[in-house]
Amino acid sequence: MPLQIVHHPDYDAGFAVNHRFPMSKYPLLMDALRRHGLAVPEALSMPEPAPAAWLKLAHAADYVDQVIACEVPEKIEREIGFPVGERVSLRAQLATAGTVLAARLALRHGIACNAAGGSHHARRAQGAGFCTFNDVAVASLVLLAEGAVDNILVVDLDVHQGDGTADILRDEPRAFTLSMHGERNYPARKIASDLDVALPDGTGDAAYLDRLGAILPELSQRRSWDIVFYNAGVDVHAEDKLGRLALSDDGIRGRDEMVIRHFRGAGIPLCGVIGGGYSSDVPALAARHAILFEVASAYA
Ligand SMILES: [Zn+2]
Repeated sequence: MPLQIVHHPDYDAGFAVNHRFPMSKYPLLMDALRRHGLAVPEALSMPEPAPAAWLKLAHAADYVDQVIACEVPEKIEREIGFPVGERVSLRAQLATAGTVLAARLALRHGIACNAAGGSHHARRAQGAGFCTFNDVAVASLVLLAEGAVDNILVVDLDVHQGDGTADILRDEPRAFTLSMHGERNYPARKIASDLDVALPDGTGDAAYLDRLGAILPELSQRRSWDIVFYNAGVDVHAEDKLGRLALSDDGIRGRDEMVIRHFRGAGIPLCGVIGGGYSSDVPALAARHAILFEVASAYA
């Protein structure tokens, strides 16, 4: 069975190439996955746009309606970082449904990845920081509402703190949120996760992997998890425009390997999402995002 990969061509909302958000990384990631022999027909699934009812489990109903109608107030659009027109609205609904679908595939097959997702700055009331809807929070609440799982672990290793996920899942005792991030990074005002690990600027491979290696067994001792959502943001890379850490490609590979081996070794389903990554060298960035899929495919 090949690694199950969820993708949609409209994950790419077609921003200008010089936009601060490197939108072309989505099609370039799929190109990279094709080159690696991973994006074969029997591996690929496509989501339908998420129904409003799913989105409203995690987000305020008026905000969901505004995004779907492309009538998001300008003040909120500024916090998101781009206007929410038709293509952005559609991509947010598709990427969110993609994580729901990947989570269901993970429950069935052990592991699956969405070739988007990790929009962890979207809070209950509104989007922020390039995130319109919080796909991992929506997927968590959909699975809980359906009774598909009882205990959810979010392992968020994007370089930015997972404030939106922490906000949405704060009062949900069946979901536990870990965020390991750069201390001095966005967001300036962090919302406490169940466990936050803040790293100093310039943290490199060895110190990062040491820290992570100590945390993973702790997480497993807390509860018997039914599913893990893994945000594999590559903005921890030394060459990332927004990150302040100093991981190498090998460090990212070691990180992904450590997380996936840990949970799959214990038989826990894992749903991977790509998270953040910012570079004007978008092919190099797409290759970094492909590492998650290369590592995950060895466990499929
Ligand atoms: Zn990030």
